[in-house]
Amino acid sequence: MNMEHEEKALKIYFIPYLAPGHMIPLCDIATLFASRHQNVTIITTPFNAQILSKSIPLNQNLRLHTVPFPSQEVGLPDGMESLSAATNPDNLVKIYQGTTLLRPPIEHFIEQNPPDCIVADFLFPWVDELANKLQIPRLSFNGFSIFAICAMESVKANSLYESSSYVIPDLPHSIAMNATPPKQMTELLGELLETVFKSKGIIINNFNELDGEEYIDHYEKTTGHKAWHLGPASLIRRTIQQKAERGEKSAVSLHKCLSWLNSKPDKSVLYICFGSLCHFQDKQLYEISCGIENSGHEFVWVVPEKKGKENETDEDKEKWLPKGFEERNIGKKGLIVRGWAPQVMILSHSAVGGFMTHCGWNSTVEAVSAGVPMITWPVHGEQFYNEKLITQVRGIGVEVGAAEWSTMGFGEREEVVGRECIEKAVRRMMDGGDEAEEIRRCAQELGDKANLAAQEGGSSYKNLTALIDDLKRSRDRKASGS
Ligand code: UDP
Repeated sequence: MNMEHEEKALKIYFIPYLAPGHMIPLCDIATLFASRHQNVTIITTPFNAQILSKSIPLNQNLRLHTVPFPSQEVGLPDGMESLSAATNPDNLVKIYQGTTLLRPPIEHFIEQNPPDCIVADFLFPWVDELANKLQIPRLSFNGFSIFAICAMESVKANSLYESSSYVIPDLPHSIAMNATPPKQMTELLGELLETVFKSKGIIINNFNELDGEEYIDHYEKTTGHKAWHLGPASLIRRTIQQKAERGEKSAVSLHKCLSWLNSKPDKSVLYICFGSLCHFQDKQLYEISCGIENSGHEFVWVVPEKKGKENETDEDKEKWLPKGFEERNIGKKGLIVRGWAPQVMILSHSAVGGFMTHCGWNSTVEAVSAGVPMITWPVHGEQFYNEKLITQVRGIGVEVGAAEWSTMGFGEREEVVGRECIEKAVRRMMDGGDEAEEIRRCAQELGDKANLAAQEGGSSYKNLTALIDDLKRSRDRKASGS
């Protein structure tokens, strides 16, 4: 073995997709590699670089390289460089188009300065061709769990698009579904996954115990592809400040949020957030406000930025918030955060006892890391599969009863989840009782396992060591021409 090469840091490029649910975990994983003395560059656009420079610890091992975002070419105002900035389906499509135009400048940079390895989001499938051309190993990332990928592959293979009630075939557990997966989404994800399977491996923001060895084995056997569990990525953030700085700039002051949470008893507060891409209609928000108020529990509720702004008329406000709601609740029973909330900081506060979530994978694994049980309310993407991992497989949450699987977070939805269902789910989780106690116990046990996995000697820590060694061996074999 050539010791000199073994010791030499790897040069790795990360290309995260331009959406918080992809960008945040992959940049935390890039930070993990840098903390293990590898030489990391994240390639992104100027506005995202500005956000990242405030939220990750840049240093000589962890750098940013920017390529321009083609705002003018796609007809967007400057600064709209993330899917989360979209305010309607029209500019969502334009932002997506903008991301597809990033190929030439990124390719140019990588060809001029080739690294030892590229880690790219699966929404940039062209990286496959580039990596092959340069003969560089490519690792994929898509922000999914292995459980969800196994479920998706089975649903696609068995063409279960028209079914609203079925058991997913061939999985280690009998997973009963109650919503119809959109055909177009399943096919598109299936195509993107084909390119993932051609890569050297997939990086998963999860830890072995939450996906379960049975699903990791199932994945590796059915696809012949290697999964590297390196998460939970958010656990790299240890202090309150580091947690609060994750992602975008918080819409609420850290001091205000902390002092309110500090004044509440342990496990008494319900945190409600539907991620960065879901946009509920007013009538749905109205049902949520009635449901939480009727449950009598304390809450932190994250709503879209434009809700409750100074220029919102009383008439507009009363479309989503019952008259007098703020006077009765805000500051006493609850907090409303308009815009970006410091989610990881909130979830890790001892006052938080439940999380009403859309089951985005990051939100799920962040709740698990904090030992917080969930009330599940999936909306789109692979969230309905995540819900089943939470409720049916791991027993760490209760379902609100959402059954409408949308193609995206925007748009009219046919079904509204009513206030009674919401109140019932909140009470089931927060009122105490044997079922809730058991769910809480399982959530805390899994939370302890998450923290152990990320520590030195834990499963994710060891997986990262093995991955770095593997990549160094590939590099050294290439250098010696063998
Ligand atoms: N997030 C946050 N504050 C918010 C909304 C989202 O910190 O107000 C973070 C959240 O912690 C997670 C990511 O944004 O890391 C959202 O990813 P997820 O996979 O849960 O959902 P998506 O936004 O992709 O639907």
